Amino acid sequence: MVKKIAFIGLGHMGGPMAANLVKAGHRVSGFDLAPEALETARTQGIEIAASAAAAGAGADVVITMLPAGRHVLGAYQGENGLLAVAGPGTLFLECSTIAVEDARAAHELVAAAGHRGLDAPVSGGVGGAANGTLTFMAGGTAENFADAEPILAAMGTRIVHCGGPGAGQAAKVCNNMILGVSMIAVSEAFVLGEKLGLSNEALFDVASAASGQCWALTTNCPVPGPVPASPANRGYEPGFAGALMAKDLGLAVQALESTGVQARLVSLAEEVYRQFAVGEGAGRDFSGIINEIRANSKTKETV
Ligand code: NAD
Repeated sequence: MVKKIAFIGLGHMGGPMAANLVKAGHRVSGFDLAPEALETARTQGIEIAASAAAAGAGADVVITMLPAGRHVLGAYQGENGLLAVAGPGTLFLECSTIAVEDARAAHELVAAAGHRGLDAPVSGGVGGAANGTLTFMAGGTAENFADAEPILAAMGTRIVHCGGPGAGQAAKVCNNMILGVSMIAVSEAFVLGEKLGLSNEALFDVASAASGQCWALTTNCPVPGPVPASPANRGYEPGFAGALMAKDLGLAVQALESTGVQARLVSLAEEVYRQFAVGEGAGRDFSGIINEIRANSKTKETV
């Protein structure tokens, strides 16, 4: 069924996601603070609203795809906020990557204003957003999930109901913990292998079919050669940018602190990617961390 959708945040991810909703036949009214994002969106059939409030008024569904929790909560609240202008029972789909506690706060605000909410962060990157092949991890009631599913299906191919409010963000943060730490482990192993005179190809051939096997090794391999499609083969062009890994592990550390979970490797990985993302690494694929590890390793005679 055709819906009137307000789409707030038309950046690298939101722009192509909104374009896919238009392609699926929905009427999309979009808003972004950046004029260039609005211009691109206009060429893709998105109606440009003068403000978030103008986009949200009269919408059946409000989707947010913004940088961080404070942007989402800011856009929701206030006299002209999205919650105030939307008609009763509007479905709010929050697709940005934000802290679990911000996602839960957003759910509470949505419910208190008489609306319905779902946190539905994504994985799959800019390519997945453009091709409509994102994975959505959703948190909220079964009823809200059922209503959201056909809309999310216009932007993604895998839509998983993870549980109640905040469960989508929880799944995203836990998955990215595994990813961030495993990429460092794989990279350290390759650098040690190099120092020990082992070829990258030989280590890959063994580990990819042994207990070291993981996505960081077999799909996003940090050395060029063994996996031709991995970012290492094209100068570490993302892919998944170092800045985003640093952001997501920052959210993981926030969740560790609020729950009291001791996760020493994740805390260390957060520090490693935060430093990586200060310089050029911000815009490079996160697998470029291998170059930092190599550069920071002492020069000794190869064994
Ligand atoms: P982006 O910076 O390209 O887009 C964010 C957009 O939000 C910008 O165009 C900005 O102008 C706009 N914006 C900021 N505050 C606003 C406001 N108050 N009202 C309206 N517009 C506002 O970022 P992105 O890469 O599109 O990422 C969006 C979200 O998706 C982030 O939470 C990110 O962590 C998450 N994400 C990104 C990727 C990726 O590969 N880029 C992958 C998965 C998840």
